[in-house]
Amino acid sequence: MTNKKNRTWADFPEPLPAAAVDSHAHLDLIEEVRSEFSEIQESKGRAAVPAKSVRDYLIDAAAAGVTGVVHSACDLPAVRSVGELLVEAMQGDRSTANVADTSSDGSTDTAADTEPQPMIMDGHIGQPLPGFARVANLVAAVAIHPNEAALHAGIQEPAIDGLDKQFQNWHEVSLEDAISEVYQVAQTNPLVTAIGETGMDFFRTAESGQAAQRLSFREHIRIAQELNLPIQIHDRLAHAEILEVLDSAGILPPVVFHSFSGDQYFAKECIQRGFYLSFSGPITYKKNDDLRAALLVTPLSQLLVETDAPFLTPEPFRGTPNAPYVVSYTLRYIAQLLERPLAEVCQATFENSQTLVASR
Ligand SMILES: [Zn+2]
Repeated sequence: MTNKKNRTWADFPEPLPAAAVDSHAHLDLIEEVRSEFSEIQESKGRAAVPAKSVRDYLIDAAAAGVTGVVHSACDLPAVRSVGELLVEAMQGDRSTANVADTSSDGSTDTAADTEPQPMIMDGHIGQPLPGFARVANLVAAVAIHPNEAALHAGIQEPAIDGLDKQFQNWHEVSLEDAISEVYQVAQTNPLVTAIGETGMDFFRTAESGQAAQRLSFREHIRIAQELNLPIQIHDRLAHAEILEVLDSAGILPPVVFHSFSGDQYFAKECIQRGFYLSFSGPITYKKNDDLRAALLVTPLSQLLVETDAPFLTPEPFRGTPNAPYVVSYTLRYIAQLLERPLAEVCQATFENSQTLVASR
């Protein structure tokens, strides 16, 4: 590893022995975090952190063996532009997609001669298209994030995080209207394969915002039920309240606790309800024994892995911007903890992701 002070992106990992999926990443936020981190590094006389395109994230991911990525668009601008982001990622710089493809009549074709196509075929992630074999497949989840829901509802009080609330112009749209935009996009874009992240957050939102979060959560569940899409849950200090809402919501589509943050007892509550637990970088952090205990009670059939990029970078690269290829480190850590072959863990999380994507 490059010395800690001069680090930029996480070192490129050995390719995984079997295909894996980053089940939750915010591709629209990576560039902002990268540029802030780079400025800090440069101000200390250290190396700049090179910029990458959305397509680069997918190229890196595929090269690391991460053949699928679920992008989470969870504020109104991200929801509105999710179609553009998917197209940009899929088309990108064509010169990088020049893998030769031999068609049935024996002639050789290259990606440069073919029309750009969605990288998801028939709703399945992980099957490379001819000419795009070196780019990870991409699908998206859409929602108004619980902390965004409170802002749309005009809640200004500071919460436990002690931060001032940052109102933006899009928060002038009412919560109701924002959620109906989510519904529109989810209904019409076939690459939207999940609703999320939705749920509750009592760390960044004050008590006065909890009613708006609960209402928003219920509405997102209703959309997921109607469209039969999996739900990605954001849960910060709100375990009991989230279970209460889920338990009273009737028949649920598949539920994923994104960046699972509970202990083994909460994990068991989720597992017995058939929910998926998606683990991210914090499982590698020294203080998180509770998370490791939660992982140990999670069956492979309900296990997912994610980056939550650009946040929550796993050790030993904590502090650098996160990106989908970095999920490889979290997977290796998880396999070691479970004392299972890495390929078996990759395959399990891959199959679980396939099942979720295919439920559309
Ligand atoms: Zn997230």
